[in-house]
Amino acid sequence: MHQVRIKGSEKSYPVGKIVCLGRNYLEHIRELGNQVPDRAVIFCKPASSIIPDGGTIEIPDYSNDCHHELELALLIGKSGKCISEQDALDHVVGYGVALDLTLRDVQAEQRERGLPWEIAKGFDTSCPLSDFVAADQVDNPNNIRLTLTVNGEMRQEGTTAQMMRSVEQIIAEISKFYTLEEGDIILTGTPAGVSAIESGDQLVGKIEQVGSLRSTVA
Ligand code: MG
Repeated sequence: MHQVRIKGSEKSYPVGKIVCLGRNYLEHIRELGNQVPDRAVIFCKPASSIIPDGGTIEIPDYSNDCHHELELALLIGKSGKCISEQDALDHVVGYGVALDLTLRDVQAEQRERGLPWEIAKGFDTSCPLSDFVAADQVDNPNNIRLTLTVNGEMRQEGTTAQMMRSVEQIIAEISKFYTLEEGDIILTGTPAGVSAIESGDQLVGKIEQVGSLRSTVA
């Protein structure tokens, strides 16, 4: 079972589920030509998709178009169902840097056929994830800068202030459908600038006050 930890703490958390939000940044919705959703787009990645900081991404042979999506990750430290926006941050024990790697060709193909696109999102190594920082190290999770470089070149640059749904709203929304449990992780969506990665690429994701994440494509 995959474990994550909070920097400076002895405690580690076995990962439960990884719940992800799609289409949470307007500019990213536009760059893919998608519709602005009236209801949150929610999907899950299996915990087996996680690789740690410094890990190697393996693009499956059934895809020719793997995209990076840099995202702020939340680590849930307290269980809850139908959590109110007011109480939402009490359930977050840490923040981390994540990539929601996506096989864009497979996703498009599955979507066209009206089929679930989980195999485009949940493959092994599709969730590079940093260690977490304690929640109290982040002043305001709804106003921090995110950047992703590939081979030193800036690809994604944004701030969580651009999110259509705030961290509090995301937790409230997801917990209407799923009980959130200690060790669950939430990925909060990606800003604009997604693009394909290739063999040998070096990715560095950074989130202000949270940390950095390095990955290499096999
Ligand atoms: Mg995403």
